[in-house]
Amino acid sequence: RRGGVQFSGVTKRFPTRDGSEKTALRDVDLVIEPGMFCAVVGPTGCGKSTTLTLAAGLYRPSAGVVRVSGEVVDGITNGAGFVFQNDALLPWKSILKNVALGPIFRGVPKKQATEEAREWLRTVGLAGFEDYFPYQLSGGMRKRVSLAAALINKPSMLLMDEPFSALDVQTRAIMSNELLRLWERTRPSVIFVTHDLEEAIALADRVVVMTAGPATVKAVFDIDLPRPRGEVQEIRFHPRFLDLYQQIWESLREEVEQAYSRTTSVSNLKGNAA
Ligand code: ADP
Repeated sequence: RRGGVQFSGVTKRFPTRDGSEKTALRDVDLVIEPGMFCAVVGPTGCGKSTTLTLAAGLYRPSAGVVRVSGEVVDGITNGAGFVFQNDALLPWKSILKNVALGPIFRGVPKKQATEEAREWLRTVGLAGFEDYFPYQLSGGMRKRVSLAAALINKPSMLLMDEPFSALDVQTRAIMSNELLRLWERTRPSVIFVTHDLEEAIALADRVVVMTAGPATVKAVFDIDLPRPRGEVQEIRFHPRFLDLYQQIWESLREEVEQAYSRTTSVSNLKGNAA
């Protein structure tokens, strides 16, 4: 069905400069049902971005198969939308033109694309800012532009890589609610990479913990508790989520410690050699 994502035994190796290979993902099995909001957490450098890139079809797996909407990904995936930590906005174009780029790229006539972009900017609360340039906006506003630019293409799958991590806590909470409101309208499947467990639990139907690299799936938590969805700040100490939060925290903590001990042992080696 439209938008579902399935990784079956996916391994990704990258060639390194010394001619050997680095394994970023190892034997990843992951299912994201159509319309599901899935958060992915794991230590820095474990392979989360690589997972998104494979879903987008920008890389091919070294082994295994990635399917989106039931089709084997082979080339750039149709219907994927992106929001990254660094907003990929063109600094020399107004935000209206930035948002209109997607439809124009797809062959929608410029006038119509501009109207659609205007409508989307209204939807994300930026009516009146159409002619502003990205640098004239706050971080939160740029996020809204990025969301509009992704959603205008009606993606069946939305890939988000720490989209809100550069924002202050309050703006982050506001943007989480905003994201859910927009997601409800078209219900793309979402893969949302984050370091923030509260954010993950507040937003996602499923939280996937990845192991310290090479990443594989360590644990999957399905969240069917009634909760204040999007209310990031209410999660950690809310009695209903204590257990869940604790379990995911523990699972992630082990992996982060492992990743950390690996990097410190590498720097110890370097120190010894010097
Ligand atoms: P994360 O998003 O979890 O921080 P990444 O997916 O970016 O991790 O990276 C996983 C590992 O794969 C890292 O060790 C990184 O250096 C390596 N890697 C990612 N992309 C490439 C690439 N294009 N070439 C070589 N190595 C890469």
